[in-house]
Amino acid sequence: MDYESVESIVAEASDAIEFEMTSECSCESWDEGTDTSSPSSECFGCWDDDKDNFRFAVVNPWLERNGWDDDTLIYLYSGNLGWNRVSGWTNIRASEVIDALTLRGDFTLRYKLEGKDLTCVRSSHDELGAMFTFSLATEGEN
Ligand SMILES: [Zn+2]
Repeated sequence: MDYESVESIVAEASDAIEFEMTSECSCESWDEGTDTSSPSSECFGCWDDDKDNFRFAVVNPWLERNGWDDDTLIYLYSGNLGWNRVSGWTNIRASEVIDALTLRGDFTLRYKLEGKDLTCVRSSHDELGAMFTFSLATEGEN
């Protein structure tokens, strides 16, 4: 995702913000001979670039709207994890909203920020869209 499209996402901050992270490399290489771009055979670090964009477009407004910071303890819940659709939860730091959901192998994370509420749908070989919710962890949930 290039910088311009990130800016347009931020400009529409009153609407729902959607952001997709995928484990698949999206790097492209430019062929000067034909003036076309094509999927690159080597990765130039698109995952980390996307993470930086995600931070700017989603994490910052999410924390700001809730009055939280990177260290705020977040209750992460899903009701349909994996092929057998079990429920599970864990407490994470707000800064871990991506790292907590990554898998080995191919996966796609589709985040959505609506008002103060962040959700994510994860798709992978074993999952048909596991839905995650993020809320403030309260005392007693340990
Ligand atoms: Zn790449």
